[in-house]
Amino acid sequence: MHEMSLCEGVLQILETEAKRQHFTKVKTVWLEIGTMSGVEIEAMRFCFDAVIRHSLADGAKLEIIEVPAQAWCLNCSQSVTVQQRYDACPHCGSYQLQVTSGEEMRIKELEVE
Ligand SMILES: [Zn+2]
Repeated sequence: MHEMSLCEGVLQILETEAKRQHFTKVKTVWLEIGTMSGVEIEAMRFCFDAVIRHSLADGAKLEIIEVPAQAWCLNCSQSVTVQQRYDACPHCGSYQLQVTSGEEMRIKELEVE
């Protein structure tokens, strides 16, 4: 499962940060996920709980923040918010959009001890 490797990646980041910032326990993880990242939020929660067991983040809460995708409309020459890939521009109806963000996933914040 795609989400399993993403969660393992998150845990690796937590372990690296723990060494760097000298904390030993993670209580909450805020994760920003772009609406075009293709990440299944429910699968993410499920995998997170499995991956963090017996780690420094055992029992940590996962807070997911969905970030709307942004695209550049070639027709309007401006940045617009789109809900999903292949959506038309909300201003002019053009399909000449280049997705500029919303495909990424990142840790926004951590609550640690
Ligand atoms: Zn447009």
